[in-house]
Amino acid sequence: MKKISILIICLIFLTMTACTKPQPIKESRFLLNTVIEITIYDKNSKKIINELFDQIQSMENRYSRYIAGSEISKVNNNPGTFVKVSEDTLELIEQSLYFSTISGGLFDISIGPLVDLWGISRDNPKVPSKSEIDLVKEKIDYRSISINRENGAISVADGMSLDTGAIAKGFITDKLVSVLNEKKIDSALLNLGGNLYLHGSKPDGSFWTVGIRDPFGLQGDYIGTVSVKDMSIVTSGIYERFFEEDGQRYHHILNPKTGYPEDNELASVSILSPSSAKCDGLSTTCFLLGLKEGMELIERLDEVEAIMVTKDRKIYLSGGIRDGKIPFKLTDTEFTVAN
Ligand code: ADP
Ligand code: MG
Repeated sequence: MKKISILIICLIFLTMTACTKPQPIKESRFLLNTVIEITIYDKNSKKIINELFDQIQSMENRYSRYIAGSEISKVNNNPGTFVKVSEDTLELIEQSLYFSTISGGLFDISIGPLVDLWGISRDNPKVPSKSEIDLVKEKIDYRSISINRENGAISVADGMSLDTGAIAKGFITDKLVSVLNEKKIDSALLNLGGNLYLHGSKPDGSFWTVGIRDPFGLQGDYIGTVSVKDMSIVTSGIYERFFEEDGQRYHHILNPKTGYPEDNELASVSILSPSSAKCDGLSTTCFLLGLKEGMELIERLDEVEAIMVTKDRKIYLSGGIRDGKIPFKLTDTEFTVAN
């Protein structure tokens, strides 16, 4: 009888241990000029989180033009010369050029001199003069970025400056997801300054519910939710980085053809795709293309969905979301779904 009781207690204990879900471990650090938050549900979470942060740091050291000695800085500082870079830096540039091609040059990582002129990410941004803008606009042209695949080298024309800000966070996220897959992590959440990746499903097997940011609200305000797994969600909008001068708002997504922040009907564009680089590249690209052309582009591409919000508080959904393939639930009744 005593033996049976011990056996039952052992069984209960074993069942309880097997059923205990791993507790999440969450850590935040300031990298890529933003707050990065990583949450992992696994017994080895701490070690993996440190590994992921190390990877982000080393990628930032290669891709950031604000870090002296980064591969991108070396390319920028040696115009007209082929500079050898890592395989992943080359891949990042190639992906950027893809977005330039599909947007007819509206997305252009050679935007650096224009970003500097406006100083939007710096302490003292200002509206430049028309002549300053015209001068700098001439230096922006993705077709003057040359890649020598054989030697793994890149060169830019004189006066150019590559700025990977519109795609680096998404590209880096995809690299982190590869690590999570290698380590066989079932559930994790990556948040690179609002660029999200919902890895796997929630520990209980259900989908993650994610809020789509209200472009007119405060951080944390959302207009509706989507239910997803193994999915990235990235939003570009007028609210992210901006300054005001003479009652006018100037945000950080610049149109290389006009030289000014893009001003169209859109307030924000959220892109959903298993590829975070696609999400990041396309959120900026579609914002620049505007509602109609942006949505047409999304419908032509595979494995990409979009939620676009206009300045008059209308929400436009791409086909896969309208069909319920990715369920969207409106939560803020100040907004209406327009299609
Ligand atoms: P965030 O990185 O803040 O989430 P985006 O992905 O939309 O937002 O990228 C905006 C950043 O991309 C700007 O801060 C600037 O560095 C860069 N950028 C601005 N305009 C363009 C453009 N037309 N093409 C490519 N990059 C751009
Ligand atoms: Mg982007």
